[in-house]
Amino acid sequence: MDADIKCFVCKRLVPKKNLVREHITPRFLDKENPSGTVKVCRECSAFESQKQYLEYKTYSISKNKDPYKSFLEAMYELEILLGVSLPDTKLKSTMAKISFATAITAMETYLSDTFINRVASNDVLTRRCVETDPEFKNRKLDLSDIFKRKESLSQEVRNYLVDILFHNLAKVKMMYKSVLHIEFPKDLGVLYKAIETRHDIVHRGGKNKSGAIKPVMRDEVISLIVSLKSFTKCIEEQLSRSQASD
Ligand SMILES: [Zn+2]
Repeated sequence: MDADIKCFVCKRLVPKKNLVREHITPRFLDKENPSGTVKVCRECSAFESQKQYLEYKTYSISKNKDPYKSFLEAMYELEILLGVSLPDTKLKSTMAKISFATAITAMETYLSDTFINRVASNDVLTRRCVETDPEFKNRKLDLSDIFKRKESLSQEVRNYLVDILFHNLAKVKMMYKSVLHIEFPKDLGVLYKAIETRHDIVHRGGKNKSGAIKPVMRDEVISLIVSLKSFTKCIEEQLSRSQASD
């Protein structure tokens, strides 16, 4: 039988078959461990991957200093791409589908980065988020942990926010309203429908719930871009008004 081996992270002794190899430092930086890998237990491996994923997401969001500008640039690039003439209908339809999904993703990134960067850098907004989001009502706190928890609260809020799917418009609409005091436009029907189409493109190979292929046309993408621009403009205008009055 194989002897137990110590997990590099939690130092527990675990059976060899329950250990996995993880890259911890690029091999050229780690003179002590030229293979660049360590052995860790499965629990630590899963935990570390989740941690690194959250750190990566948090980092990339914090680097998007002007989400509105990034969004408009993405729309501009899509408009140029959609103007390129393609030789056959199949390619045209593929281009339309990819552009449709990309446009929705750009909106999602705009909503996420605008919200998270504002809330993460502002104690008043972090507090509003904790006090109004139903998620935090469900999180328990032992009084003995209160100070430790307070120290890590902004990190806890950020970890929660980076994991939210910002194309869940119904939820995001509530969050913008209760935390940033921003109202989304009244009629979001076009966007809800477009988010469903994007779901079918990305997750169902373009088929809808009943299995029928729904082709996406170039004109639909052009009109989606118009709707997305007007949606984000409405948010931006309210944000600049609220900043001016701060
Ligand atoms: Zn471990």
